[in-house]
Amino acid sequence: MRPFSSAELLDAGEQGLSEPASRRAVALLTSACPEASDETVAAWSIGERDSRLLTLREWTFGSQLLSVANCSACGERLEWTVKAADLHVAKQAEPPAELSSEVGQYQVNFRLPNSGDLAGIAECEDIVAARTILLEGCVTTARLADQEIESRHLPSEVVNAIVKQMADADPQGDVRIDLSCPCCGHCWQALFDIESFFWGELNAWAGRVLGEVHILASAYGWPETDILNLSPQRRRFYLSLVGG
Ligand SMILES: [Zn+2]
Repeated sequence: MRPFSSAELLDAGEQGLSEPASRRAVALLTSACPEASDETVAAWSIGERDSRLLTLREWTFGSQLLSVANCSACGERLEWTVKAADLHVAKQAEPPAELSSEVGQYQVNFRLPNSGDLAGIAECEDIVAARTILLEGCVTTARLADQEIESRHLPSEVVNAIVKQMADADPQGDVRIDLSCPCCGHCWQALFDIESFFWGELNAWAGRVLGEVHILASAYGWPETDILNLSPQRRRFYLSLVGG
């Protein structure tokens, strides 16, 4: 994986606009990882995907992440910042290619969900149906005693055990941020989704940079490529000269 230049970042953002939300992360990472095929990237676990997205975001926009949230008790809007380093979950070990779970007489082998699995349920509005499809994709074999069964016939306690084991084996896929409200003192944990966070920043950045290109191209007649090749500091200097 390597960092994006400004021009590559704009291209990646533009390409992402033509993809459904569930495919954007794969499109971004495929652009940043020329050594990996589209299929390889889509097969990375969600934790692996999010770890790489977080690193890419850090290379692109720096080590601090800033956002806003609404207090879930009083509705107050609060600003929060967090260091990217604090969002990286320390890897205990590479998650195994296959996991297994035994609950009572049930014995199940399964793999971790990946971007391809999430894309497969993106259009599914029924949460139970989505979970069934996801399990069908991830469960390789399921047995009750010696009898092979389909994953959709697994009872909820077995499914819950599988889901918990998946989360434990791939913790970077489920990152939460501790927030507290300065108004009412309420404390809670918010789910942090690096994909939508990075995508939001990327869109805002692209809009700002294209505006800068417009001002500098109008003032100096420079081509877009030359303006994008300027360092952000130099771009800001020329913008200040033309009052942009
Ligand atoms: Zn509050």
